[in-house]
Amino acid sequence: MERMDSGPISTSVFELFKAGPGPSSSHTIGPMEAALDFRRQLETLPESVQDRAAAVEVRLFGSLSATAVGHGTDKAILAGLLGFDPARCSEALPGDILVLQPDKRRLSLGRSAFVVGPESIRPDRIQHDYPFSNTLLFSLLDAAGFPLYQATAYSVGGGFVQWEGRPPEARRDPPFPYRTAEELRRLSLGTGLTLAQIVLQNEMALSGLDRNRIHERLDGVLDTMRRSVQRGVRAEGVLPGALGVWRKAAHLARKADSLDDPLNRFLGLLNAYAFAVAEENAAGGVIVTAPTCGAAGVVPAVLTMIEGHLGLGPEAVRSGLLAAAAVGFLAKNNAGIAGAEVGCQGEVGVASAMAAAMLAQARGFPSEIVENAAEIALEHHLGLTCDPVGGYVQIPCIERNAMGALKAYNACLLAGAEDASRHRVSLDMAIRAMSETGRDMNVKYKETAMGGLAVCLPEC
Ligand code: SF4
Repeated sequence: MERMDSGPISTSVFELFKAGPGPSSSHTIGPMEAALDFRRQLETLPESVQDRAAAVEVRLFGSLSATAVGHGTDKAILAGLLGFDPARCSEALPGDILVLQPDKRRLSLGRSAFVVGPESIRPDRIQHDYPFSNTLLFSLLDAAGFPLYQATAYSVGGGFVQWEGRPPEARRDPPFPYRTAEELRRLSLGTGLTLAQIVLQNEMALSGLDRNRIHERLDGVLDTMRRSVQRGVRAEGVLPGALGVWRKAAHLARKADSLDDPLNRFLGLLNAYAFAVAEENAAGGVIVTAPTCGAAGVVPAVLTMIEGHLGLGPEAVRSGLLAAAAVGFLAKNNAGIAGAEVGCQGEVGVASAMAAAMLAQARGFPSEIVENAAEIALEHHLGLTCDPVGGYVQIPCIERNAMGALKAYNACLLAGAEDASRHRVSLDMAIRAMSETGRDMNVKYKETAMGGLAVCLPEC
């Protein structure tokens, strides 16, 4: 595994928190964006090439090859090739996209027109030499099956896509450059700004948007998170796929509401909210990557408790989301946030760290405590493998979101109760440990459904 990012962190908050259809940011949103981008690339080819086009082929490598169907990768790629944009999907992808009539799956290019379908997508090797596990090799073929044009995309987690040979787009320099948690902490101590204020200042400079516009966009992200909680907590029935998993969020919420003991009620509702979003994600509903689809329930669950049960207002919530973004940036840039790269420690583990930071920032704790809360949450997910049963983002993923939310809450309690200067493990150390553990993790435990729980449930 090789990180492609260098220099100060220049990721936008709105690249990290993206609305889109589940169930997997690296297997659904990323491939869909890549397919849409490839379609746009084809539209710029010379007519002499376009006119000879007869087919598109998409080869899947790594974990994409192993778990494409359970993660909806085939549907997502077809949707992208047909021009659907994940950012504009107001609801789940059409479930029948694979069986649409051929005339609805036609791709026109120059004087050529051909049909794309499930046969255009070919699972290839799980172990390979590309620098990232989730690799897509797109080819435009002529009538004899020879490639007219090829492009290689890496879906690196959280819906982020990198193209082979395409340099990262030039961005403005952030006014508060940092690459590590230590540098971020020093900036905070040196300027008196909170982590959230630093992220906001950088976002303003990178995007050219003013504070009010960024607040509006943050509110949009928060609204999408809230809606996914509300939809999920009402929905009943069985989730799509072969496992026959029943949705539990509504039952958990009713059960929690009936409890007299306030602590049990609080924890029960936190569970229910995390289940709600994770089940929406598993059903292919629109959620926010935080940092990924598989882990999308953790931050909204803690958000709902911050608003509904701790009574904190919009400013505190926005600040919390910005601090959560800082933690997501650090993890993405210094280790990885894809189950296929570092296991579930990079998905639910990072989500839990982000949620812990969000809670600590929203409660007004100083930056050291915000960092320590994130560190504690991440530390206790280190080594967590990714072993989705049957390749579906359901078992263990849904329950794991609830566990991540509970750990986030406890991490904030622990960090807030201790003398920050005596905390021995820094967030950088935990992220480095995650990176090293991920590098050593066998490919069986990286979203391939070839090991762990995925092979220990024989009935699945
Ligand atoms: S086990 Fe974790 S990393 Fe793997 S698919 Fe499920 S949520 Fe994502």
